[in-house]
Parts: sequence; structure tokens; C-alpha cells
Amino acid sequence: MTEQDHFDAGALVAVLTTQPLDRLLDYRAPEGGCFLGAFVEVPLGPRRVLGVVWGPGRGDFDLSRIRSIHRVLDAAPMRAEMRHFLGRVADYTLTPMPAMLRLATRSPGLGDPLSMRKVYRLGHTEPARMTDARRRVLDVLRDYGGLAFTLGELAETAGVTSSVIKGLVKLDAVAEEQSPRDTPYPRLDPDLPGMTLTGDQAAAATQLCVAVRSGAYGTTLLKGVTGSGKTEVYLEAVAETLRRGRQALVLLPEIALTAEFLKRVQGRFGAMPAEWHSGVTMTERRRTWRMVGEGGAQLVVGARSALYLPFRDLGLIVIDEEHDSSYKQEDGVVYNARDMAVLRASLTSAQVILASATPSLESWANVEAGKYDRLTLASRFGAAELPDMSSIDMRTEDLPGNRWISPSLARETAARLEAGEQSLLFLNRRGYAPVTICRACGHQIGCDHCDARMVEHRFLKRLVCHQCGETKPMPAACPSCAAEDRLAPVGPGVERLHEEAAALFPDARIAVLSSDLFGSARALKAKVEEIAAGGADIVIGTQLVAKGHNFPLLTLVGVIDADLGLQGSDLRAAERTFQLMRQVAGRAGRAERPGVALLQTFQPDHPVIRAILSGDEEGFWAAEAAERKQAGVPPYGRMAGIVLSSPDVKAAFDVGGMLARKDAPLRRIGAQVYGPAPAPIARIRGRHRVRLLVKAAKTAPLQSALSAWVAQVKLPANLRLTIDIDPQSFY
Ligand code: ADP
Ligand code: ZN
Repeated sequence: MTEQDHFDAGALVAVLTTQPLDRLLDYRAPEGGCFLGAFVEVPLGPRRVLGVVWGPGRGDFDLSRIRSIHRVLDAAPMRAEMRHFLGRVADYTLTPMPAMLRLATRSPGLGDPLSMRKVYRLGHTEPARMTDARRRVLDVLRDYGGLAFTLGELAETAGVTSSVIKGLVKLDAVAEEQSPRDTPYPRLDPDLPGMTLTGDQAAAATQLCVAVRSGAYGTTLLKGVTGSGKTEVYLEAVAETLRRGRQALVLLPEIALTAEFLKRVQGRFGAMPAEWHSGVTMTERRRTWRMVGEGGAQLVVGARSALYLPFRDLGLIVIDEEHDSSYKQEDGVVYNARDMAVLRASLTSAQVILASATPSLESWANVEAGKYDRLTLASRFGAAELPDMSSIDMRTEDLPGNRWISPSLARETAARLEAGEQSLLFLNRRGYAPVTICRACGHQIGCDHCDARMVEHRFLKRLVCHQCGETKPMPAACPSCAAEDRLAPVGPGVERLHEEAAALFPDARIAVLSSDLFGSARALKAKVEEIAAGGADIVIGTQLVAKGHNFPLLTLVGVIDADLGLQGSDLRAAERTFQLMRQVAGRAGRAERPGVALLQTFQPDHPVIRAILSGDEEGFWAAEAAERKQAGVPPYGRMAGIVLSSPDVKAAFDVGGMLARKDAPLRRIGAQVYGPAPAPIARIRGRHRVRLLVKAAKTAPLQSALSAWVAQVKLPANLRLTIDIDPQSFY
């Protein structure tokens, strides 16, 4: 903060609020003045709202009506770098600034005064009468030299009641003090000894550390199969960042993975880092938000929204499993955390590490174009390489209807059971059956609010809509023709597969891993640990199991339906299938035992299936890149998806048609517009969805053209328009 960044009392300042207004509001600086970037509470009509001092006021309206900032909040002002970053994300994603500010202030109690709590330390006198209990309290305080305890902590550690401590306070033998509730996180020690790295691990770690020491921006793709030691390697870059006194952020795609990761951080650096994701308590969120800003948190491990924490000096961002589609946020502010991480790093001279066994084509292309560096870890640590992969040609398997485990796969599974090893049966479908059909009239049970079929979840004894979450009990009679007892499940989900496996292997211990079967991340983690320790013979799982969990006893992976992801018109279908199959296969044979992966498929000659089996990864990417280049689609062209949603289908089509006709702003940059057409999911939560697609050349100024384009039409009140730049999924 410099002198120029301070506004004296009464000076006009412009404030960005979290309210959906399209402009900054002028206020007068309060008594004592305020800094640029200060978090403030300002009056707006009858209310008080959160805002940030964004710059000098413009004073372009009746000065006598300008009100004063109500108060400056007790938080470090937002840094210039962060204000700049939010502005750039807003420009890129065409998001209004107030929505960006809401994203950056997702901390409960931000407006509260710094909250204090009572803590206890060693006092100044010895009590005249010493009891056993009193001695234990004083011993604890002495043993932990100078450390302050809360009443509960002290009572528990000393094994006394709180009245014993209160008694000692009265005697001045224990001192009671007020201390801020949000305390810094324990120091991480980057110089604790790490593992002895193998040759190419060490070479990669060295190169990343050199990059960190440069103090400049750079992005590195760290590629290596699961188990090759990517985590070990990037933790060295984290260590180097901490040594230089800068902060690090590690993003993980799945909360369920954080616990395992935190344990590794603790092992490497001697303490727990800060966490930021939906599973963290409100108190802890507030502590993380504040400590990140004050420098009391050196390392944050979190989900994509951690990118908007107010870091004081962010020196490194790691995106683990960078290809994962969960980095793309599709509600509210639509952004890709991977791309925005690169943006943030470039604004703050930080390094980015994108770690993956199966990088996205985007990152692969950025390496090819020389924008990113690439480091490759060749082999798996310990075990030799990826498991042997082959296909099971389902056209030649003798399998009755409503059964999905082929005789070949069943044989292999039985052999594993015999040998005391684990098998994974992978099916990326939650629930019991994806479709429920009436055998009398052919009616399929759909969601009342969405254009989607309801999925039977037998475990919950309900039908569930995977679009909107609506559930209803399984009806006794067909809702269409009223025939009784004629409703039948069609197709498999993991619950149904479980039934089949239990019938085939009555003595096996079978575990199902599916996100909806666990009430909490903790319950899921406990299950994963139990399985890893040998608590199951057969694991049946959705893509949840593809993500980084470690099952050392697993030697067989059977993919029930390798063709599943190849259907549909999504431009990333091939890429996604390739990634998912390789990841799932990578679950087998992680420790010393070699593994096998078998893919059940009806099209063993499909180019994607062949690429997966042959293991010719570079060949696959090159072919996929060539196809996308030819089609002018990402990453070689730009795209934006526009969804118009409304309870009124005609209104949505009318606006869509109008946009399609008024395409001059798009034509000016050489972009084309396709549509309007019903979106692949034509109705969600009672709202009809109409889609347009805009395609442009890689270098075209797409955002400004899009803004000018949509500004031409006035939207009816209940019509919502969302723009998705670089759409990842088409729904
Ligand atoms: P990845 O992140 O690529 O999946 P990890 O870093 O998780 O790989 O490594 C896989 C396993 O191998 C982990 O249990 C890790 O502790 C272990 N490991 C990796 N490298 C080494 C090493 N050099 N020495 C000892 N253990 C290692
Ligand atoms: Zn629904």
C-alpha cells in the first residue's frame, strides 16, 4: 500500500458491491479514510451491503446525495493483483463484476468484527495449596512451553474439570487472555527430508524448482501415469515455493481425495495445510480466507473456488488431474479453473503445474505450441508400467439378457478371488437401472420437470432425476396405462451390477463405490481405506474410483461398457473415453503385483478403443488434434455455447431466432452462429432450454463480439441467457 492508495475522510470513492448492478457506486470515505481495495459496508437504499473500494469516485451526479461508507471491515484490503484478476476473469467469461466479487468473498462472517476467544497460559504465582489436579494443569502448561490452550483443550489434556482451571485463574496461577479466534496455521517445514527420488523424478523436481526460483510466470505440464510419483515431484516445487516465502495452492478435483493428500502433506512438511472446499466448516473457511490474506497460511489445498482466495503472495498453483471436467464450473459464474489458474499465475508471476496421466487436448496443444513446458515421468514407481490391456469382444460372448458380466470377465474375476486379489468392475452409471419401462405400453418413466428419464435407485427405494435431483417412489402401476406390476428396469447401473456379481460370486465380499451411496466425504474415505486394506474382494465403482485412490491389492480391472462414452455428439467424447479408460486401467497393479485391464466392447475395432489398447498415446493425441484442427474446434478454434432457458418454450425460441438473425457483430469477426435448436437436455427444472453455438477462429476477439451481439436483444423477464466460453460439455 502506498500513500496514493489512501483516500482521506470525505473523499469520493467508487465502490464495487456484491449487488447485481451494472456500475460502481460513489460514496464518501469514512472517518479515518480508507485504502484502495478496502472491504467496506455501504448503505444501499434501506440496506447495508458488502463492497470493495475500487478507485476514486467519478462524482458525476448530485454530490449532496452521496452517502458515506458505513464502515471499513476488519480484513486486509483486496490487492491490486486480485482486482485485476477478477476484472480479467469477468472479461473472459462475460461475467458481471458483482458476481465476481461474490465469488471472491465467499467467507462467512466477513463483516463480523474480529472475533476473540479466551485462552489460557501459565500464570505468575504458584498456588499455596497444590492438589493433584492442579499440578497436572500446571505441568501441561509448562510442558507445552508458552502455548495457549482453550478451556476445553486444557481440561482435556490435563484430565481435569474446567472448574479446576477456573480456580487456578482466580489464584493467578493460570492466566486468562483474549486472543483472536482465527489463528495462523502451523508452519510447514519445507526442509524436512522428502523421499529419495528416482532419476527422472529428481530431474523433474529440479526443473520445477528452478522455475519456482525464477520468480516469473510459467506453466509446466507434468505428465506421468498414475503412481509414477507426480505428487512426490510437485511437493518438491511446493517446498521450494515455501522456502522462498511465497504461498502455494494445490487444487484437487474431488473432495474425497483431500484427506489422503493432507496426510501426505503432513508427512512431508510436518503439519496440516489450510483447506478450502465444500466439506470445510464455516469457522474453518473464515480462518482460511483471513489467513490466506494475512500470510498465516502457506499452503491451501482445495477445490476450484480456492482460486479466488485473497492470497498475499501466491507463487505456485498445482492443478492435479488437470484434465478433470470438474474444474469447469457450469453454474453461476461459468469458468474453467485450470485456465483461470494460468491467468492468475501470469498476473502474479507465479508458476503453474498441471499434473495428469491423461492430459487434456488443450494442454497437450499448448505444449506443442511452446506455451507450456512439459516434463514426463516415464515409469511407475515400484511396479513396471500400465497393466496389460485387452478387449473382450461382446459380440462373441454368450451372455443372457439383463446380464453384463461376460463369461470371460467372470473367469478372470474368479481367478482373482482364488488368488486372494481384488477386482474392480467399472461402470460409470449410478443407481440400479438408467431406464424404467412399462412392458404393457412402452412408457418410460421420466422426470416431471426435465427432459430426462428417471434412474431407479434401489438402495434409496426411489426414482431419481440426475438432472434436477427430484425423487419419487417407484410407482406400483404404470403412470401412463395404469397396468400393474409391468414396470421393468432396463440397462445396468452399479447397484444392479452388484446384484449380478453377488449371484455369480456368492462368497465374495463386494463393495460398491458410487458418490450417491455415501452421506459424507468422511464416510466415503473410510470405505476407500477399508477397501485399500483388503476389506473387499470385488469393488464395483463409477468414475469416482478412477480418481487417484490407491488400491494396492487390485490386479484386475473389468470395464463393463467401454463403448458408453463413445456415443453422443460431444466433440470431446473420444478424448474423455480415452482418458477415463486409461485412468481406470491404472487402478490395477499399483504395488508389486502386475495387473490386467479388460474392456468389454461391441466395437473392438473402433479407433479410440484401439488407441487405448495399443497404448500409443502420442499417436492418439496427434490424430485427435488433427481432426479438431480440421474442424476448427477447440483447442484450434474458439467456441461459445449460449443457452436460453425459460418456462415458455416459444419465448426461448423467439429470442434464439432473433439472435440468429442479428448476427452482424459475429460476422464482423468471421464467426458463425448455429441454431437455435433444442439443447440436448431440452428441459431442466421446468425450464425449456434452447441452444446456440458460436464458432470463431482462434485469434478472433470473441468476447467483445458476443457482448455486442447479445446486447441487441431485450430479454423477457423470465428468460435467462447464459454464455459458456470454451464449453466443455454440451447439454
Ligand atoms: P502419482 O501422483 O503420479 O499418482 P504418487 O506421487 O502418488 O504418484 O506416487 C505413488 C506412490 O509411490 C505413493 O505412495 C508414493 O509415496 C510412492 N512413491 C513415489 N515416488 C517414490 C519414491 N521416490 N520413493 C518412495 N516412494 C515413492
Ligand atoms: Zn428432473
